[in-house]
Amino acid sequence: MAIYPKLIMDALTKVRYPGTGKDLVSMGMVEDNIRIEGNKVSFSLLFEKPNDPFIKSVVKAAETAILTYVGEDVEIKGNIKVEARQAARPEPDKLLPNVKNIIAVSSGKGGVGKSTVAANLAVALALQGYKVGLLDADIFGPSQPKMFNVEEARPYMVEVDNRELIEPAANYGVKLLSIGFFVNKEDAILWRGAMASNALKQLIGDANWGDLDYFLIDLPPGTSDIHLTMVQTLAITGAVVVSTPQEVALADARKGISMFIGEKINVPVLGLVENMSWFTPAELPENKYYLFGKEGGKRLAEEMNIPLLGQIPIVQSICEGGDSGTPVALNPNSITGKAFQELAENVVKQIHYRNEHLDPTKRVVVTKK
Ligand code: ADP
Repeated sequence: MAIYPKLIMDALTKVRYPGTGKDLVSMGMVEDNIRIEGNKVSFSLLFEKPNDPFIKSVVKAAETAILTYVGEDVEIKGNIKVEARQAARPEPDKLLPNVKNIIAVSSGKGGVGKSTVAANLAVALALQGYKVGLLDADIFGPSQPKMFNVEEARPYMVEVDNRELIEPAANYGVKLLSIGFFVNKEDAILWRGAMASNALKQLIGDANWGDLDYFLIDLPPGTSDIHLTMVQTLAITGAVVVSTPQEVALADARKGISMFIGEKINVPVLGLVENMSWFTPAELPENKYYLFGKEGGKRLAEEMNIPLLGQIPIVQSICEGGDSGTPVALNPNSITGKAFQELAENVVKQIHYRNEHLDPTKRVVVTKK
């Protein structure tokens, strides 16, 4: 007897998804990948969530329907693949059990100051008394070792509870690991896909991060498989998106925000940081020159209904601080230091707010200093 995809589809219309009472085909759960080789039939069923309680019973019912309506000799058992629209969310506490909050720092475009913001945010949080770790996951340009002046550091192994763990480098009160410690800067870009994902997973799971209030991840710009790996590996508390006020940067930031709040990634956006908001020359401190347009980030935040966490001016010392390995946030009384302190306070506030109001079941509570 010849088997056709339509016969399979017809059989699957007889199976109902218990959650809605509608059949699998009209629910759009049957993927367009039915393969038939002789008697062997395989295809995928698409569920909304990876932990859908009905997965087993629906797969069983689908197998039975095919054997009943298409033919008893169809080889179907074990050939139905289960897929989920939403990424599998890791159980909080599994990896990094002693880390209270995980913040992904991201940008739509490269060169907008994402790494600079991540470094200074980490330093500002540490100055406020929090325990802070930073993972530099930007495989396109791991710059944190330079910004923290630990370029020469070579993370070593330590034994903790009978496990060999990588000891992060540390400076300015921030523990740091970077993909840059393990490869030459020029080669980092070759670390795509599975290789980069595995290396990063190791830097998360096999490192001695210890107790942390905030664990920041400096993600690569744009949208990549690294983003997906990170959300599948860690229960990320929220994302901070960095953009300049320039239209082209904002367009990409918008895409980045949509990616985070989209079904697949599904990570709350804590807010937007507008970097390079204006330029103020040292000799004319009252003047603000809006080189990349005025308040574009503020408008985008309003439009996307997310908080504006901070506006950071263009200041030469920010760039120099990055190059020399002394982040400006180390001086909390300078104009730039104040801007990063304010940013850190707003991030903490957003996380408190979320922990208290929005998602009490999933998120852990921020410890007091
Ligand atoms: P990204 O991580 O988005 O690629 P970086 O943080 O590496 O961007 O920043 C790109 C360059 O811009 C660096 O040289 C950095 O020092 C500089 N920079 C970033 N933000 C500012 C700022 N607010 N003022 C002056 N220079 C800045």
